[in-house]
Order: sequence, then structure tokens, then C-alpha cells
Amino acid sequence: MKRTSVEPVKKTKLVLIGNGPVGFKFCEKFVKYRLGKNYDLVVYGEEKTPAYDRINLTKFFSDKVAEKLILASSNWYAQHKMVLRTGQRIVEINRAEKWIRTERGATETYDKLILATGSVPFVPPIADMDMEGVFVYRTLNDVQAIHDFMRPGQKAVVIGGGILGLEAARALSESGLKTTIIEVAPHIMSRQLDADSAAILQKQIEALGINILTGIKVERIVGVDNTKLVVCSDGTELNADMVVMSAGIRPRDELAVSSELKTGPNGGIAVNNYNLSEDENIFAIGECAFAAGKVWGLAAPCFEMAEVVAARLAKIYKVFTGNDLLTKLKVMEVKVISFGDALGEKDHIPLVHSDPGSGIYKRVNVSPDRQYVLGGILLGEAGGYSSLFHMVRNRIKISGSPEDLVTVNPDTASEKITNLPDDTVICLCEGITKRTIVTEIKENGLTRLDEVKKFTNAGSGCESCTSLLEDLLAEITGDQAAAGKM
Ligand SMILES: Cc1cc2nc3c(=O)[nH]c(=O)nc-3n(C[C@H](O)[C@H](O)[C@H](O)COP(=O)(O)OP(=O)(O)OC[C@H]3O[C@@H](n4cnc5c(N)ncnc54)[C@H](O)[C@@H]3O)c2cc1C
Repeated sequence: MKRTSVEPVKKTKLVLIGNGPVGFKFCEKFVKYRLGKNYDLVVYGEEKTPAYDRINLTKFFSDKVAEKLILASSNWYAQHKMVLRTGQRIVEINRAEKWIRTERGATETYDKLILATGSVPFVPPIADMDMEGVFVYRTLNDVQAIHDFMRPGQKAVVIGGGILGLEAARALSESGLKTTIIEVAPHIMSRQLDADSAAILQKQIEALGINILTGIKVERIVGVDNTKLVVCSDGTELNADMVVMSAGIRPRDELAVSSELKTGPNGGIAVNNYNLSEDENIFAIGECAFAAGKVWGLAAPCFEMAEVVAARLAKIYKVFTGNDLLTKLKVMEVKVISFGDALGEKDHIPLVHSDPGSGIYKRVNVSPDRQYVLGGILLGEAGGYSSLFHMVRNRIKISGSPEDLVTVNPDTASEKITNLPDDTVICLCEGITKRTIVTEIKENGLTRLDEVKKFTNAGSGCESCTSLLEDLLAEITGDQAAAGKM
């Protein structure tokens, strides 16, 4: 009898550098698109632990258990036939011969390479970072080191009054440290808030016991015995037991630079609209990429890039064209949301409702023809934000009077989330539409937010869509309590 032998299909070797949230998101998509049929995946991560939830890093101060942040165990990677190599930094890419080299000298060949190397904190040249008690706020190691160092009653200075700085300051203050934030810009959260809303927020944060100094620059940090002296440009000097730097981030593009790949004007690996670099075998995703004209520093757009590349490897052609920014301040009790063109960089008419006494500020920027919402800021009271944000994202016409949008509770019938089109994307990180969520709620009789998250996977990333999910659930079940809103 004639015997036929079946040649095993030769798989394409995929190497992923970076096992942060976006590298991990790519691994999830690798499973979703069943890429394992055609690709072998090897993942390199420089940190010792498998990918963890950086977005919720601050929870370490309350939970104190690092394992709770791990996104998936090493077993998960093995189960899905991926090779995970943690604690191994890649130091060289040889593009001509298609191999990479680890710090320890081992090499690995690739057919296709994906860079998901993220960012590092920007450290202005004002301090010796080896000085005891001076920290950055980025990794699990950083927060563990801060946690081990701090003692209630100590004085802490946080340099940077952006979202991360505020988050770090709140964690320190809640741990009993007398905390001061120093921000060089005229007001806190200057990339998301205008001066008036920032002033209201500042008062509320100060009421929580955190001191805030704005418009001054830290010139240097000097070690004085076991403490530090923080010296500012206006002559202010603050004594501190510890200093946390949160002065912005820089994309980690060093591997691209050393292998002569094109980068953006201010760094970041330059990629086209499906995240391919100028080398046809190298993709870049997440915070290390310069994509659609900029480097993106939030989870939702970065996760979308992982989706775009995984889909393309599965021969589904998606593109990354940018992802409307939605920023929420978590950790603080105060509700702060900034979306779309919040600061009115384009031509716009600002509609503002401000009530500093009650801590409420609402600004909605509408187009000069008053037909469309361009962006806005919601502080203290976030009612209607889901509708407003989706009116921006999906370019939905304002149906009533634009002024109604800034009244304290603008959930008019026309803007109710249930009236938004079914293909409205609710979860930006996962690209999950209203249709999918509504179907799951109805078909499975879901009544709780955690069930909706579990069934749909919505809200598993930056969690900014949580209140949208609550709104949808409440509208469908007609029960506010069931949606966890009461
Ligand atoms: C405390 C904190 C809170 C945040 N909160 C929010 C939030 O509320 N909402 C939001 O949208 N975003 C938030 N972010 C930002 C969000 O975490 C980032 O957008 C996201 O982590 C980007 O993921 P990434 O995988 O691209 O980069 P990273 O998270 O930086 O991961 C990159 C990984 O690659 C590894 N790596 C780098 N170079 C190499 C190399 N040469 N070899 C091997 N491994 C390498 C790094 O060690 C790192 O583990 C927050 C960030 C922090 C720090």
C-alpha cells in the first residue's frame, strides 16, 4: 500500500518584546484569533513577573498583594502554547539577519517581530535617582519600594500634578504621609482640565489633606542627612523624607534607534496605520509607538493597536487611526472626566455650568454651528457623560438645545444611552459595541455589573466605560440598584 506522509505546516515565528499590559493584550488577541495555528509566539519581558495590571498599580497600597495584579499566570501562556521568558531584557535587534539578543547574550531568530516596550518615566535632571527615598511611579518594583520605605507621619513630595501624580499623592496621603504636590504648569491636570475646573478640583484635593503648589519648578533635590531638601525656582524649599517623580513618560524606542528604525519627531517607533514600522517584519504597539501622528499614553488606544496587529496577522484588515481620548481620574473620590477636545483646541463654543460651592463644573465644547459636541470636562457630577462622549466619538447631532447639555442632569431622552446607535463602541479598549452588550444582558438575564463585565469582556481594560455599562444595565433592567448605582 502506498503511504502518504503529511508535511507539518511550517509556522511563522513571532517574537514579542515587552510583556506589559499591551504585550499581554496582544497575547489575548493571539488566542482570540487562533493565531497559534499559523504562528509560534515567544514573548520576552524584562520584568521578573508576568504582565500585571499597571493601570491599577495603585491598588497595591490597599491590597498589598502583588499577585492580585498579575493578568495571567505563566501557566496561562503555556496552556495557549506561547513561550514566555520573563526577566530577560532584549538589547539588540539584528534586522538584516532577523534575530534579537538578550542582555545575557542569548539570541532568538524571528520571522515577524512585535515591539511592545512601553515607556519609562521622564526624570528631569534634578536629582540623583540613586539617592535613598527618591522614586519613580511606574512598575510593581517601584510601588513595592515606595511601600517598604514609607512610614506614617513622614513628609512626601510628589513632583508632577498630572493624573499619575495625583494618584500617587492620594496613595501616600492615605497611608498617613503629609504630602505635597509640586506642579510646574499653572494648574493641576493641565492636559485634561481648564484653569477653572482645575481650581475647583485643587480645593477638593486640598480638603483631603494634600498640599498643592502650582506654577513652580523643582530645581534640585539635595540629600540632607536622612532627609531631602526640595529646592524650587521661586525660592520655596521643602523638607521631605521621600520624593516621588511623576513628570511624564518617554517612549522606550531605544531598540528601534539602535537598529536604525525610523522614530517620531519626539521619539516613539514610527508606524503606519496598521502599526507596521518601516521594516516590513517589525510592528510596534502601545506606548512605544508613534502612531497616527502621536505617541499614545493611555490604555484604550494602546490596546486598540494590539487588536489591529493581531487581526492583521489573522488576515482581517483593521487600521488604527487614533482613539478619542477619554480620561478619568480614579483613586480620588472626586469624579473627574475629560473627553474629546476638552480644552477647546479646535474652533468651538464653550458651554459652561460652574458651581464651585458644590464642587461641580461642566464644560461642553460644541462646534461653531452648535450641531456637534467636540469634547468637554465633567467635574463632581458625571451624569450624562456616557452620552456626551459617544456624541463626540460617533459624531451624533445634538437634537435639542445645546445648553441643555450642561445642565446638571442632562439625560434627556435623545441623549439616553439606550438611544445611541447599536454599533456605538462602548468599551474602547476591547472595541465592544452596545449591540453585543445589550444582547448579552438580555439573553443571559444579567442584572449585575460584574456579570456584564464577565460575559462581554467590556470594562476589562482601563475601566473608563464602567459607568456606561452601569447606565445600559440600569436602562435595560430598569433597576438602578441592580446596576450598583445606589
Ligand atoms: C500607576 C499608573 C496608573 C495608570 N492609570 C491609567 C488609567 O487609569 N487609564 C489609562 O488609560 N492608562 C493608565 N496608565 C497608563 C497605562 O498603564 C499604559 O498606557 C500602559 O501600561 C501601556 O502599556 P504598554 O504595554 O505599552 O507599556 P508598559 O506598561 O510600559 O509595558 C512595557 C513592558 O515592556 C518591557 N520592556 C521594555 N523594553 C524591553 C526590552 N528591551 N526587553 C524586554 N522587555 C522590555 C517593560 O519592562 C514593560 O514591562 C497608568 C499607568 C500607571 C503607571
